[in-house]
Amino acid sequence: MTLRVRLTVWYTAVLAVMLVLYGSAVYLLLSYTVVSQIDEQLDQAAEVVRLAFQRDIEGIVLPPMALNLASNVFVQVWDTEGELVAQNLTMMDGAFDPQALLTPAKRYSNVLIDGAPLRVLTYPLYTVSENQLIGFLQLASSLDTVVRARQSLLFVLVVGSVLAVAGAALIGYSTASTALRPLDRVTETALRITRADDLSRRIPMAGPPRDEVGRLIVAFNETLERLDVLFETQRRFMADVSHELRTPLTAIRGNVDLIARTGEADAETLRAVSSEVERLTRMVKDLMLLTQAESGNLPLAQDEVEIDTLVLEVFHQAKVLAPEGVELRLGREDQARVRGDRDRLKQVVLNLVANALDHTPAGGTVTISLDCLQEWARLTVSDTGSGIPPEELPHIFERFYRVDRARRRTALGGAGLGLSIAYWITLSHGGRIDVASEPGQGSTFAVWLPLLSGACT
Ligand code: ADP
Repeated sequence: MTLRVRLTVWYTAVLAVMLVLYGSAVYLLLSYTVVSQIDEQLDQAAEVVRLAFQRDIEGIVLPPMALNLASNVFVQVWDTEGELVAQNLTMMDGAFDPQALLTPAKRYSNVLIDGAPLRVLTYPLYTVSENQLIGFLQLASSLDTVVRARQSLLFVLVVGSVLAVAGAALIGYSTASTALRPLDRVTETALRITRADDLSRRIPMAGPPRDEVGRLIVAFNETLERLDVLFETQRRFMADVSHELRTPLTAIRGNVDLIARTGEADAETLRAVSSEVERLTRMVKDLMLLTQAESGNLPLAQDEVEIDTLVLEVFHQAKVLAPEGVELRLGREDQARVRGDRDRLKQVVLNLVANALDHTPAGGTVTISLDCLQEWARLTVSDTGSGIPPEELPHIFERFYRVDRARRRTALGGAGLGLSIAYWITLSHGGRIDVASEPGQGSTFAVWLPLLSGACT
């Protein structure tokens, strides 16, 4: 059952139940009120007749029938022997309600005489002095008008209710259809997007963006946007990985082919193969680390790390790797402690220093410094190297991004993953990394890490 049919059924069923309850209440109230009025009339008539009896009773005496009774009230007077003493209509032989004459109590009853409905009041008559039962008074009034009024009311209520329910069902269905039509459009577009496998499509906004459907469309489009970006990233990633893997694999294959052809493996060929295998291994490790870091699952130690000692260690290590003519210097060095994973942080600094050394020509300088700024430890690696063009700057932290794609790979450099890794490790430590660069002048990379409280001197 569709949503619109379900809504209509619910809506109509609730209305129908309410109409039945309301109709029944009106019907019962009307019947009660009208019958009460008749009872009251009978009561008054009984009182008139009874008073007439009391005035001259010594046994049963016929009451004067020219009493001021309501015109539609019929009266019978019965003695205790079951004999009709008097009545104000001539054609009745029996009592209006013979059953009621058996017990001396005031009683109202409904009877049917020759198909005509009557309301009957039976009233016992007593002698004034001895309080002795001398007979019964039976008064009857026609219920014809009541029955007709009830029938008309029932007809109006039933026909009105049926029409109201049918109208409500029609209006409810068309309202639900109108309200849900935009949802159909959303579904159709979503299906078309799925069929065409085209995540760049968006659902056009038909109504106001703040209503339920509008919000659904906005949310759906945002999801599409996100999926589109994710798939594009994924696609680019796969293309980059394949591309990056191909070069070392081609080199390995060439060398292995050479060994197979010549039948001997000289030391240089083996070294070349080993170096390419090492590069592959490093790339795979880097990719795994990136994947873990991006999904927030990078396992990180939570040690107290003395950054100044770490900087010193990298300095000594990198000094050996510095190319001829490039000076590696230590700048300002505050003592600072942060919480985190020492090995990972060292990897960050090493990556930055290796990049700086790699992009600084002979005669240039690379400086590592560490200082504290409020709650942050700021570690900078600046060089007087080639610098990075401003249009490239926003991309250098992306995976596989290299400013000069054709650039020779160095032992420390690589597939364009170093800065991404540095970025994600810093981020995982609650810090950030930024860069300032001037082409031809040099670059400065700054890693900001949250200090342990009071951990800077
Ligand atoms: P790679 O493995 O190629 O070094 P990175 O992710 O470490 O990759 O760096 C991305 C790109 O940023 C590099 O290809 C390089 O062009 C540029 N880059 C990084 N550091 C520097 C620097 N200190 N000076 C100039 N360019 C740099």
